[in-house]
Amino acid sequence: LESAEIIAVGTELLLGQIANTNAQYLSTELAGLGLNVFRHTAVGDNPARIREALEAAAERADLLIVTGGLGPTQDDVTREVTAEFLGETVEMDAAGLEKIEAFFRERGLTMAESNRRQALTIRRSDTLPNDTGMAVGSAYAGERCALILLPGPPRELRPMFARYAVPWLRQRLPDMQPLYSRMLRFAGIGESSLEKQLLDLIEGQQDPTLAPYAKEGEVTVRVTTRAANEQEAEEKLAPLLREIRKRVGDHLYAETDIPLEQAVAELLLARGERLAAAESCTGGKLSDLLTGVPGSSSVFAGSVVCYTNAVKQRLLQVPADWLEPAPGPEQADTAEPPYGAVSARTAERLAEQAAALMEADWALALTGAAGPDPAEGHPPGTVYIALARRGERASAQKLLLTGDRDMIKLKACKHALFFLWK
Ligand code: ATP
Ligand code: MG
Repeated sequence: LESAEIIAVGTELLLGQIANTNAQYLSTELAGLGLNVFRHTAVGDNPARIREALEAAAERADLLIVTGGLGPTQDDVTREVTAEFLGETVEMDAAGLEKIEAFFRERGLTMAESNRRQALTIRRSDTLPNDTGMAVGSAYAGERCALILLPGPPRELRPMFARYAVPWLRQRLPDMQPLYSRMLRFAGIGESSLEKQLLDLIEGQQDPTLAPYAKEGEVTVRVTTRAANEQEAEEKLAPLLREIRKRVGDHLYAETDIPLEQAVAELLLARGERLAAAESCTGGKLSDLLTGVPGSSSVFAGSVVCYTNAVKQRLLQVPADWLEPAPGPEQADTAEPPYGAVSARTAERLAEQAAALMEADWALALTGAAGPDPAEGHPPGTVYIALARRGERASAQKLLLTGDRDMIKLKACKHALFFLWK
């Protein structure tokens, strides 16, 4: 096996009701296995057109991965069409059927006849068990091509692929050394400036390879090599990792694939410290990120969403004469009030008061213009972040961020978290 195509079945995909995230996930995983993905196809729940897509793909690729349409209902036809295409029939998988029957039995429900369909597999295929749902998958090693059949729901597809399809595929891959990757996670730096600092490494890469990519307001660099074993991989990767750390180590917060909020939560947990927040322009996004980390209740005290000046004054004691009348942007960095809500002094006061109010060791504050319109004359993307240690004076930073409203909010939060991280 060397080349693969992914065929996603589902009329929902064609109607634009869902995005084909299964293909995205599978492409990433297949690349990691060293397989070349040549094409993604999306096709409706229509037997003739599914068949057409299968025939065409089999002409081009060694491995077809087919997703979706393994459910119990009449419109779920993928299994039958695929079996026919392979010149096989479908047959009942005993273990799969027992699991479905047990599910209904344990809940005292009567099982519809159609549910049995989800235990059907392709004759002479290897069954891929479904640990998070009902429909079993199949892996078939045929003459024309190999084919893997997976259920549509990502929460079923992903574990099935990772746990059962990957080992099946590995046995059939050419005798290549496996890939070893390290994920380096960076914050407080944009993709393009990171790339600039690594440009010669990126352009001259052979083995190991390195690839930066931006997502969720952060930048990840994946460094990959082929090696006989973990130790050899370590040795091959070490010089490049050292060079990257030397150049952009200031922005490196993790050498595993975890988001910044998790790294921050782990750091606080290790130190036994708690964080609070005061969020104006991010409207609770920082809290959302932090509370997305399991166990964050021991490190995150809470946040005041101080969206209006009134709330900044009443709940967080920002003096009225700092805020009003709303001055021009040039006032934000002066020594005399009014500074405005979008200013270093206001951000600092918010952070100091949040730490005191919520009895936290640290507090972060964010205030700015998320866009699309200016705030107090500041262009969209202007955000002040401040960090306070309880009982001490806070310090602020001014950010000039780009992106739409969501992206500016997200980037502001990541910068604030990175401010604390450092
Ligand atoms: P079910 O038993 O739920 O019917 P199924 O295997 O028949 O599963 P589909 O009916 O095709 O799968 O899709 C079920 C759900 O899975 C969709 O509503 C959608 O939420 C998700 N899904 C399907 N295909 C994709 C895809 N390519 N990318 C992301 N999500 C998908
Ligand atoms: Mg379905």
